[in-house]
Amino acid sequence: MPHHDLITAREPMPHHDLIVIGAGPGGYVAAIRAAQLGLDVACVEQERALGGTCLRIGCIPSKALLESSAQFVTAKEGLAEHGVRARSVELDLPALLKRKEQVVGGLTKGVEALFKRNKITRYNGHGRLAGPGRVDVIQSATEQRAGESGAANTRSREAAPAAGRIQLQAKHVILATGSKSAPLAGVELDQDRIGTSTEALSYPAVPRHLVVIGAGYIGLELGSVWRRLGAKVTVLEYLDRILPGTDDELAAEALKLFKRQGLEFQLGARVTAARAGQADAGGKRARDRNAADPCVVEHEGGEPIRCDRVLLAVGRVPNTDDLRLDTVGIALDEKGRIPIDDHFATSAAGVYAIGDVVRGPLLAHKAEDEGIACVERIVTGYGHVNYDAIPAVCYTEPEIAAVGKTEEQLKAAGVDYRKGVFQFRGNGRARAMGHVDGKVKILADAKTDRILGVHIIGPRAGDLIAEAAAAIEFGASSEDLARCSHAHPTLAECLKEAALAVDARAIHA
Ligand code: NAD
Repeated sequence: MPHHDLITAREPMPHHDLIVIGAGPGGYVAAIRAAQLGLDVACVEQERALGGTCLRIGCIPSKALLESSAQFVTAKEGLAEHGVRARSVELDLPALLKRKEQVVGGLTKGVEALFKRNKITRYNGHGRLAGPGRVDVIQSATEQRAGESGAANTRSREAAPAAGRIQLQAKHVILATGSKSAPLAGVELDQDRIGTSTEALSYPAVPRHLVVIGAGYIGLELGSVWRRLGAKVTVLEYLDRILPGTDDELAAEALKLFKRQGLEFQLGARVTAARAGQADAGGKRARDRNAADPCVVEHEGGEPIRCDRVLLAVGRVPNTDDLRLDTVGIALDEKGRIPIDDHFATSAAGVYAIGDVVRGPLLAHKAEDEGIACVERIVTGYGHVNYDAIPAVCYTEPEIAAVGKTEEQLKAAGVDYRKGVFQFRGNGRARAMGHVDGKVKILADAKTDRILGVHIIGPRAGDLIAEAAAAIEFGASSEDLARCSHAHPTLAECLKEAALAVDARAIHA
């Protein structure tokens, strides 16, 4: 793999068929698919490690922590019912965090290997547009030093003055620069006590009291991790419910189960301020880091809360920092996203955008699907994403997964539907596993029986939802799903039973 670390302006201007800016799941998958289709592809990434937010500081490290913390809870509390006695179970947090780093390291190196195998040229630096068919790669002195030593560079590009620039030419450019944590007015991020998911993936010690701002995917997944490892966790949510966008019935059940696990919730609690350090009489703040609870969080739901760590998780915003979109005449929409047409084309000829930086759910697999469709469209003229069949999964315990429409959406659209529900407690495998909380809910069109939405809360919901996504993609009816043979005893039988329940004929209900 050609790897351009040290760049000088004297080199001739390289030309590629396609330049992808950003090596997250959207960008790196697009680059690989384009290489498979015979294009000369380059990918510009400012971080030393490939894989983007998902691999480095998102999906993968959080899943490693969720897995390890679940093992800890099982070892501590879940083995006795299986007749296994384990005494003196202890947490080794440094080892747990090290394992997470190893998982991440292995996967980011895997993407490097894939780039090499597919002969994708990698440029390490900040990519930005420089006019039609032109991309500049900017390297800071820090990045050049990191490149020389081969050390990981996680510092922001702005940390050092620009020290090198290479000008590239390309027929096509795909912008896949992802998203970043949304800030919240009044919340003073210090990248230590008060931080985002990035900090919450690596707290050096289990917090005494962690306040999570926002009961979305990030807040609930990472809140669960630290709760399992022993922290008191208080989740402050602006709305009167958790998991906005999730089917109401499932979100309500999830809230009950999370409370049972010891997570504390204050709903209707809009956070207005959070800071580390106490304000003295004069309004000045003494940043006494040794105090037991150096942080204070103010919210509209009650008294200010003192704690030792704060996780801000109120959404993510598109990352279009210094992309120089103006050089090709692209203007952002009202939400700061890059506007595209149905085929990922921006208003500038030859410039496309995919993933978190455009409209639609902020999900790694959505970005991947868009990357592939975008490239196939460029090369073959065809490429398509079915946005009705994109699953979403919250990896809490139990997992919560959905694909298609919620009941609320169907009601709002005036669609007549039938509903089949099956509880995991009626399933033999769930009982053998000892994970009986939750249910599968299937919503089917009342006239055609076509499956419109599937919602699962329960063990392995994130894996089970794949069958539902395939069913929706193929336009299956609930009768089709009910007539498919499902291995016994498996959790997947709950989908079959829920499909039967649409017609009030579930067997084990
Ligand atoms: P989110 O949009 O899912 O949830 C943010 C929550 O913060 C909302 O419930 C909102 O009402 C609340 N909020 C907003 N302002 C507030 C305030 N002032 N005080 C209290 N609460 C407030 O955002 P997230 O959890 O940060 O996740 C960001 C994105 O990343 C989401 O789009 C999500 O889909 C994606 N993500 C997905 C996964 C996954 O697929 N498992 C995991 C993590 C993140």
